Amino acid sequence: MVVHVGLLPLSSSCLPSLPRLPRLSSTKHRTFAMAVVSEDPVREWILSEGNATQITRISPVGGGCINRASHYDTDAGSFFVKTNRSIGPSMFEGEALGLGAMFETGTIRVPKPFKFGPLPTGGSYIIMEFIEFGSRRNNQSVLGRKLAEMHKAGKSEKGFGFEVNNTVGSTPQINTWSSDWIQFYGEHRLGYQLQLALDQYGDGTIYEKGQRLVKSMGPLFDNVVIEPCLLHGDLWSGNISSDKNGEPVILDPACYYGHSEAEFGMSWCAGFGGSFYSSYFEVMPKQPGFEKRKDLYLLYHYLNHYNLFGSGYRSSAMSIIDDYLRMLKA
Ligand code: ADP
Repeated sequence: MVVHVGLLPLSSSCLPSLPRLPRLSSTKHRTFAMAVVSEDPVREWILSEGNATQITRISPVGGGCINRASHYDTDAGSFFVKTNRSIGPSMFEGEALGLGAMFETGTIRVPKPFKFGPLPTGGSYIIMEFIEFGSRRNNQSVLGRKLAEMHKAGKSEKGFGFEVNNTVGSTPQINTWSSDWIQFYGEHRLGYQLQLALDQYGDGTIYEKGQRLVKSMGPLFDNVVIEPCLLHGDLWSGNISSDKNGEPVILDPACYYGHSEAEFGMSWCAGFGGSFYSSYFEVMPKQPGFEKRKDLYLLYHYLNHYNLFGSGYRSSAMSIIDDYLRMLKA
């Protein structure tokens, strides 16, 4: 588990809890009527809809991979703000909608998103609830149960996909709705990454073998009823923490509605132990063929790591593909 170090040792007496949790809103929907982007939209929002009259301190928060993060301390409580200087608001829209969907399930703790939008300089921002992280190690059993409760509560009537495309790491993640999970996972998850490896590295071998797997993976899903469940989508130790009461918190999602088992695709760097899985399966019983599909779900993230970080991850992806092609005689 990555321990999240709060920058400031603030006592709770100087951190009044947020009086009201404002609703998520986006400047995007107002830009048609109001073409001018405020000079400092973060400050403006905090001092209006955020119910603060004064921002007492702004401190940088370290630990992120992609964005600049800050802690805004105000007389109406604390806010957590991320900004990106070059990417437009669509990335934070994905994060805000994902956090909002998880928050709405009322299960595992996630920061409530308040607002996202463009910066006048061309980048974008997101404002969300600031969570004071604790130093206690995560309780694996509680984490497993709460995650399963989220999977159980977060249902979609539109099928597999999400309201918007988002990103996993910095790779685009296509979330076009589909009623067929095998088609969705084959095209928008494995297929997308395989195409990226072909375009980026000219890796025809992984592309061709991977596509053979996509076409032949159907039997891995025999006798399973797959329902769309709300997934965090990028659940590894860097995105799991606990609050000061020891409650698990999950952050920085790449949400979509998918097969619950796909949530374990990053388990190779999540540190889930036996008590995590046993609590999880008490709420979301293990489905037939779970073990057979495990590597298929790792494959998406190994491919993504290959595309993001280079050839060090290629052999892990390739050996999963080769094993399946042998098993499926494809
Ligand atoms: P990035 O988008 O750059 O990957 P993260 O979402 O990982 O950034 O956030 C950067 C760091 O900020 C995290 O490691 C965590 O310590 C801290 N953090 C994230 N969300 C919150 C929050 N809601 N409240 C307080 N700190 C947070």
